[in-house]
Amino acid sequence: MRRAAEAGELELAREDILFFATPHPRELSVNSTRITRVRGTDVWDLSYAEYEGRRQLRQIAAFLRKYVPGFEDSYVVQSGVQVGVRETRRILGEYYLTADDLLGARRFDDAIARGSYPVDIHNPDGRGTILKRLPPDEAYDIPLRALIPRQVDNLLVAGRCISGSHEALSSYRVMPIAMATGQAAGVCSALAVQQGVPVRQVAASDVQAQLLEQGANLGDLRPLPRHERKHG
Ligand SMILES: Cc1cc2nc3c(=O)[nH]c(=O)nc-3n(C[C@H](O)[C@H](O)[C@H](O)COP(=O)(O)OP(=O)(O)OC[C@H]3O[C@@H](n4cnc5c(N)ncnc54)[C@H](O)[C@@H]3O)c2cc1C
Repeated sequence: MRRAAEAGELELAREDILFFATPHPRELSVNSTRITRVRGTDVWDLSYAEYEGRRQLRQIAAFLRKYVPGFEDSYVVQSGVQVGVRETRRILGEYYLTADDLLGARRFDDAIARGSYPVDIHNPDGRGTILKRLPPDEAYDIPLRALIPRQVDNLLVAGRCISGSHEALSSYRVMPIAMATGQAAGVCSALAVQQGVPVRQVAASDVQAQLLEQGANLGDLRPLPRHERKHG
């Protein structure tokens, strides 16, 4: 990478080439582009990012062919259909998750999802990645309150835009956790409709009971015995 960079053949705001096996023999998925200093809410920035991502993709493909043994005859079969955005606007919710909550493996009474992915900050200004792990075998809770906006009624958020800091988001943005908060938001909405109440008034214990019945992992919480379950 250093030689290619010095030759002006690789201009990446990133320090590594990261790739993964795919289910297809002889096919790899490469995760190495990085486009910094753009706003995911601005159409001009996003257009620039589409262009810049494809420029980096062509450079990485040429770099692999020229410098990395085994890639001599490789070619690109696919790229993301649209540029991905790790971080943009989030709600301010009834609870605001912080890196201390995550790294301290904090538990909450209204937990609706759990995570253990490290704090993984891709430098928004250029090279460098900060990685901080939880203690071994620990996980943190995500409280239902982080999905509920402070000032808007009957709205729930899930995935990347739940309520938390830049550092906390760098962990909870990953797909399994995004899916778990999506499942919880869906369950909470359905219960609000069934109970005829705003989402803010749905009891977290009802959301937890339904999630546990669906097989969610909420740490020590266990599904109620079948005869005690409420069915709406
Ligand atoms: C480069 C990159 C690499 C990553 N690598 C990994 C990884 O290795 N592992 C991992 O787990 N995670 C990874 N992530 C993070 C993860 O992919 C995302 O944080 C996660 O997919 C976000 O999910 P989401 O449901 O919050 O948002 P999204 O998946 O973006 O879903 C939001 C949806 O809303 C739609 N939408 C937007 N506006 C509207 C509208 N007005 N009306 C209707 N629909 C709308 C969008 O089209 C989109 O389909 C990566 C992210 C990036 C950018």
